[in-house]
Amino acid sequence: MDGTREKEIEYAAFICPTCGKPLQKQGGSCRCENGHCVDYAKSGYLNLLMANQKHSQQPGDNKLMVEARRRFLEKGYYEPLLREVCRMAESFLPSEKSRILDAGCGEGYYTDGIFRYLEEQGGAPNILGVDISKTAVDKAAKRNRGISFAVASVFRLPVADASCGMVLNLFAPYYQPEIERVLAPQGVMLLVIPGEGHLWELKEFVYQEAYKNEVKAFALENFFLEERRTVRELLSLKTREDIDDLFKMTPYYYKTGREEYERLHSLDVFQTLAHFELLAYRKK
Ligand SMILES: [Zn+2]
Repeated sequence: MDGTREKEIEYAAFICPTCGKPLQKQGGSCRCENGHCVDYAKSGYLNLLMANQKHSQQPGDNKLMVEARRRFLEKGYYEPLLREVCRMAESFLPSEKSRILDAGCGEGYYTDGIFRYLEEQGGAPNILGVDISKTAVDKAAKRNRGISFAVASVFRLPVADASCGMVLNLFAPYYQPEIERVLAPQGVMLLVIPGEGHLWELKEFVYQEAYKNEVKAFALENFFLEERRTVRELLSLKTREDIDDLFKMTPYYYKTGREEYERLHSLDVFQTLAHFELLAYRKK
């Protein structure tokens, strides 16, 4: 084989969604050895979602939800969580060169935050982000060009077997077989889930009968739970827009009637608990 020529090939971070072969960069697009071709979007992401994986025209979070989340997160309300996620990612990253995949990255708030944090610590982070929402991925790609983003499903990650040292799953749909497949031996999965009391006051205000989040047992097959950290903070929402945006970020938004929703609109300020569980698992 011609060694010089081999060096010229630049691989994309993702694999071909059709055949699973590595994608090679060729100008503004990517191609696998079987000739399948995908173009980069203007903002720099790859759309690797196959038509048969879409369950609707615009799968995933819609524009309204993505924008509400972006506005809310930009105001720093979840910064304590971001800081803790960054510290945990750094302490569990198998090596400085390990690749991190954010499976269900949304509009990239945490993906970008971790990238910047690791960079500040002197590292050269190797991070990929995947989400099924095109609107979200487009925003994420515009936010940080140093991260490779793709539109794809967490039920079929466009990433090679055993190629990631760490997988993040933050409030995203969870599909363990794919996470296990892409994690290298001894790789770490970082999971963030809402805690029992998350947004309790908000739920209590909106609903006649509120219920606590059900938090399942933390034990997972094929993984060791290495560490659990809890982040609890009182959110002081300062404007009607902030209250509205937070509510739109929750699954309750779509399950709420007009009357209940309007009750929320009568508020200008509100305090509610944010409660998260951060879990680090190592693949057995
Ligand atoms: Zn292919």
